[in-house]
Amino acid sequence: MQRRPLFPSLAGSDKPFSETDVMLSARLKRISCVVLLVVLLPIAAASAPPSAAPKKALLEFHSGFWINLHHFLYVEARSTLAQKSARDPVFSSADEGELRRLNPTELSAWDKSVAYYASSLAGRDLLFDDGLIAVKNALEDAESSTDLAQAPISPELKEALRRAAPIYRAHWWARHDAQNRAWIAQVEPLVSQYGDGIAQDLARIYEEPWPQYPVRVDSVVYANWAGAYTTTEPTRPTISSSDPANQGTAALEIVFHETSHGMIDKVSRALRTAEAGVNTKRTAAPFRAGALWHAVLFYTAGELVAERISGYVPYAEKNGLWARAWPEPARTLLQQDWKPHMAGSASLQVAVSQLAADLAAAPGR
Ligand SMILES: [Zn+2]
Repeated sequence: MQRRPLFPSLAGSDKPFSETDVMLSARLKRISCVVLLVVLLPIAAASAPPSAAPKKALLEFHSGFWINLHHFLYVEARSTLAQKSARDPVFSSADEGELRRLNPTELSAWDKSVAYYASSLAGRDLLFDDGLIAVKNALEDAESSTDLAQAPISPELKEALRRAAPIYRAHWWARHDAQNRAWIAQVEPLVSQYGDGIAQDLARIYEEPWPQYPVRVDSVVYANWAGAYTTTEPTRPTISSSDPANQGTAALEIVFHETSHGMIDKVSRALRTAEAGVNTKRTAAPFRAGALWHAVLFYTAGELVAERISGYVPYAEKNGLWARAWPEPARTLLQQDWKPHMAGSASLQVAVSQLAADLAAAPGR
């Protein structure tokens, strides 16, 4: 989190202030499916009535070659820009060291692709740039392609990725893929145990359906500055498998936090309504809810995991996000005004309006 200053992602990206605030070859997919079948079939055979409808999967995790290469090149290219940010992810020492092992031919080709990224992509935002969102979705979908032949991306980008591909495969991919798969392997059992309940609660609280079945989640070694981000329509989280804040039980919160970005429109609208209501009676400078919807999202996802896992410390608390993005009384008021809605004793609009009114009335606002 030092490397990526926490969050603000807005539309989907994650981590706070702004707003929304994150693979493999067909071979891995097949392996995953085989493993799942081996694990789940005996359970299903033992417990499911013969007539039970097949359960719809909430989430589908991927470790894809092209989307990992894309983010890897993006991160390196960004490090060469004058406008780079201290919040940008940086290569691990292992990844940096591998860069020094490229032979002159590899290095020349690699640098050419990095230069293309630096000139055409790295200055744009992975979450808010429509072109980069389209590229991300195309490269995720091209997971099993060997050459991107059918991928709907520009010829120049395709060439840059194809040129870098054999080098990435030879030097980094095996380790990156293993890291992604290890991250997926740690979060999948948590999703199996708690996912249905959390998804049902989210739909009830946000009054919006689960975005789609399944929501595709791509695990990448490097995501954006926030460590995870989510694009919508369709809702697709991209999550860093190497971010220290995304590990262990926190991975469960991150996955459902990210997916919540595809379920938060009603809350956002209610907050805009509440903001307007506050300002009709206000003589001081207008109250701005800003990315308060994201504070609601952080609070809700963290609480839903903490309700299920004893001793769990929500992400925003553990990583100092409240203090940085929404200092008190924000969290106290979320607990006072929003939590009753989570518990079913206040409507969404009433809870949000109370939250906005109380926050606007706080000293200094
Ligand atoms: Zn978020």
